[in-house]
Formats: sequence, structure tokens, C-alpha cells
Amino acid sequence: MIRKIIRRIFRQPEQGTTLARAVEPAIIPPESHPVRRKQISSGSRKVCETLQQQGHKAYVVGGAVRDLLTGITPKDFDVATDATPDEVRRCLKRSRLIGRRFQIVHAYMGREIVEITTFRGREKHAEKTDAHGRLLRDNVFGNQSEDAARRDFTINALYFDPVSEHILDYHHGVADLKQKTLRVIGDPKTRYREDPVRMLRAVRLAAKLGLFIDPEARRPIREMAVLLENVPTPRLFDEILKMLTSGYAIECLSALRAEGLQHDTLPLLDMALHDPQGEKFIQLALANTDQRIREGKTSSPAFLFAVLLWREVNVTWQKLCQEGEPPQTALFQAMSDVLQTQGEKLAITRRIAADIKEIWALQSRLEQRSGKRVYGILAHPRFRAAYDFLLLRAEAGEIAPELPDWWLAFQEADTQTRAEMLLPVANGNKKRRRKRRSKPTKNAEYSEESAPVNDA
Ligand code: ATP
Ligand code: MG
Repeated sequence: MIRKIIRRIFRQPEQGTTLARAVEPAIIPPESHPVRRKQISSGSRKVCETLQQQGHKAYVVGGAVRDLLTGITPKDFDVATDATPDEVRRCLKRSRLIGRRFQIVHAYMGREIVEITTFRGREKHAEKTDAHGRLLRDNVFGNQSEDAARRDFTINALYFDPVSEHILDYHHGVADLKQKTLRVIGDPKTRYREDPVRMLRAVRLAAKLGLFIDPEARRPIREMAVLLENVPTPRLFDEILKMLTSGYAIECLSALRAEGLQHDTLPLLDMALHDPQGEKFIQLALANTDQRIREGKTSSPAFLFAVLLWREVNVTWQKLCQEGEPPQTALFQAMSDVLQTQGEKLAITRRIAADIKEIWALQSRLEQRSGKRVYGILAHPRFRAAYDFLLLRAEAGEIAPELPDWWLAFQEADTQTRAEMLLPVANGNKKRRRKRRSKPTKNAEYSEESAPVNDA
């Protein structure tokens, strides 16, 4: 009873967040911050204007405001409003409801899709959590202050009004951003227990924005990392993918390891980084990807996971070869084993897993430089990725540069030169091999042709 009264007096929210100080936001006028309405996508701007004209509150929220304050171009501009999903739909003609439990609205504004979320609060009664304290439901509407309180970090609880150009700052996020500090809203332990993915988000956002994780938020991470075990694997996959494609993958992965968070997300990463060659390979690949992404180019998730897991495939492949498995069989066995082990922690989608396998399988095929099949390899949809992968292996010192050099020259050559480049001896081998394949005693030649090239 007394606790109830105290809570009412201080308007303290339910268990888990201690946010009494932040019920009223600081209202930062346009002359005191650099964000301008023209930096907001036209679709999100229009959505906010329309909702406001209908008497609702509507703001651009979260990552977009934070990124603009930091001088980064946001990926998307999410809108938060006090209008219910049905009200939003009534205000915006080309829109539809998404999601079953907590409905959000997607508005189609020309070619842009704007995500509109109704302010969320917390369950008023018993929290729906699992045995470890993880929130299982987060689908109650609330007011703006409650919506701010359920966000993860102070720098993410910022609301920008594209009409007035004011920023509403509920948890001193602007000051934290200036001080380069990533601070959890409420008690970090409770917030991590509610959603362990927040620990990964802390690492990713700190790396992306060059922030220090506030000591109070950083300290519990190591001991609580184990809670990631209870997070559904597809969510972990999404988060790791965000890290890899953030343009700051190197920083993210090294922070992930420094905080001890990789065991339950990328169990094979430690092994991959165990020896200098494996580490060099990953560093080169990620540096390359980070640069591409910062230049606005895309990168394939399959390529990135193929890189991270390659070392383990390679080691298993060679081990199986030494045990007498034919190389091709050994490679496929190694690929399945590794994807299986990793998949237990991180649900790599089937489609991406299929692409990863193709990149790996092509590593063996790229060694063949004779006959018509070379043209088949060149026309393979995954050739480009497989070639880039081969190049990285050479740069990391895993194979001699001669092979990628040959493929580069072959790609650039005209028809006549290509024909001349094909290795004639291998051609002869191929014919003989085919004839002899039916004889079990001649397996050795097949092995020779597709044996792993790596010398590690
Ligand atoms: P980015 O888009 O750069 O990956 P972001 O912070 O915008 O980063 P989103 O996943 O787009 O990440 O989330 C949008 C907003 O939703 C966040 O800014 C934050 O306010 C809130 N949010 C996202 N995930 C969580 C979470 N696990 N717990 C609490 N709030 C969250
Ligand atoms: Mg975002």
C-alpha cells in the first residue's frame, strides 16, 4: 500500500524502470540543436503533418533523431504517435496494419514505407516474463512518457517534431550524446534481463556512434551474457546481421569479444580468431565490407557469414580429408557440421545458408581451370562472391595469389584469350577421370583434382 502511494507520488513506473525524474521532457528548441525538417524523409514528414492536423501527437523517433544529432544519415525515419493503429489508418489512405500482437502501421508514401508505432506503455499488472525475467509481451499502449521509458537507451528516447522542429528529450539523451555516453534507461540489470538483446544493441550502437558505454551499463554485461541463451535465435541472427552490416563490423565484433558476448551468438568466432591467419582473413574481409558500406554500397549477409565461419570449415575439411574422405565429400560434410553448430545459437535463415554453402563449394570448383566447366563457374550467380572470397584467402596468405590472379585475367580476357588460358593438361585429366570414375580403384585421381588448395 505504502509503496503504491509512493509510486503514485513520484509517478514511478512499474518494476524495472526508475524514471521518476524524466516524466516531463526537456523541450529543446530548433535554435539549440542542429536537426532540421528538411533532413527528415518527405514521407515521414508528411505522416507527422497529417497526424498532427488530425489532432494527434506525431514525432520522428529513436535512431533517426540520434543519428541526425551525431551527423550520420539515418537508415529510416520511424514515427511514434498517440493515435491508435486504427486512427492512423483512418488518417492515412495508403496504409496497412502489420503485426498481430502489437500492431504497427505501414504507410506507403510514394516509394517510401513509413513505420508508425503507437506510444507503448508497460503492463499495469503482472509483467509477462519468462523464468529469467525476459519480457514476453510488450504490447500495451501508453502515453509518450511511458513510451520513452520503455526504450533502451537515453539517446534513443528522443522525439523530433518535424513541424515545430523541437526535440523532446525525456532522459537527457542529448546531453549523453554530447558527452559520448551510452546510458541505459532505468536499472541496466533489469533492462538486460527483460531483453538480453539490449546488451548486443549497446555494443553495436557504442561502436557505430563512437560512444563509451556508461560503467553502470557495462559492468553487468559479462555476467549477464549467458541470458542470450534464452533469446529466440532468429532475433540474435537479426542483431548480429545488423552488426555485420553496420559499417562498423570490426569495432562491433571486437567489442562483442571484449564484453564476452560472442559465446552465445557467434561461438565459432573465437576459434576463427584463434590463429593469426584466421584473424587476418576476418579482419581483411570486414575492413573491406565496412568500407563498402560506408561508401553506400551493399554487402551480402551470406558473404559475411561465409567469412566468419570459413576457418572452421577449412580446418574440418582438411581433417576429414586426412581421415581419407574424398575432398568434395569432406568439404560438404564440413560445411554442414559448421552450419549446424553455428545454427544452434544463431538461426541463419535457410536462404542465406544456401548462399553460404555455394560460396564455400565454389572455393573447390575455382581450382579447376580446364574444360567447359570454367565457363559454367564464371556464369554461376555466386561467382562474384566466391571470387572475392578467393581473393581474400590469398590476401590473408591462405592460398597463393596465382589462382585469383588467373580468374581475374580470365574474367577480363576476350573469347580467344580465354580459350588459350584454359589448362590443357587438366582437360586430358578430366576425360580420363570420367572414364575411370566407375572403377573404384582409381579414386585417387578424383581426389587430386579437387583437393583443398589451402596450405594451412
Ligand atoms: P539502427 O536503426 O541504427 O539499427 P535503432 O536504435 O534505430 O538503430 P531500431 O531497431 O530501428 O534501432 O529501433 C528503433 C527504436 O526502438 C530504438 O531507437 C529504440 O528507441 C527502440 N528499441 C529498439 N529495440 C529496443 C529494445 N530491445 N528495447 C527497447 N527499445 C528498443
Ligand atoms: Mg532504426
